[in-house]
Amino acid sequence: MTTAPDTYLGQPVPERLKTQWRTWEAAAWRQQQYRNTNRSYPPDERFNVRPPAELCPEHRRLWIDHRNLRFNEETGNRWPGYDGSPFEYHGVNMDELREWRRCEWDEKASEQMRLIERVCLSGWSPQCTPVEETAEVVSLAAVKQRSVEDVELPAEAS
Ligand SMILES: [Zn+2]
Repeated sequence: MTTAPDTYLGQPVPERLKTQWRTWEAAAWRQQQYRNTNRSYPPDERFNVRPPAELCPEHRRLWIDHRNLRFNEETGNRWPGYDGSPFEYHGVNMDELREWRRCEWDEKASEQMRLIERVCLSGWSPQCTPVEETAEVVSLAAVKQRSVEDVELPAEAS
């Protein structure tokens, strides 16, 4: 059970969010409170959100991978981190630009995390790997490895 504070940035935390403090909904509320204080770039919220318990192991792994993608303050590369988007120097406030990009990074990574949740929880994703199936795939691979020299390739048509 997560303990939510009574207030956040001086605002009373709504009752409905107190029991859901680690959800995206509460994260969005926190970011809104931050913006309400006339600051444009709220702190990253990804690490304050917990993955849904229903996620399968594979999507949980993907979810955590995206959560752990960090904006690099040195290079300042824009999401998703390819080279070639260095800071632009012409008349731009560097701190502001860095914060803007960090924020964009957090938003895009969060979008991916929520997409992963939707895909997995829809129950229709071929990427889902129930634990039992994973064990089956491993054993099948082991069998193939053992018999690899016995396999005769079909003769090529000439
Ligand atoms: Zn899944």
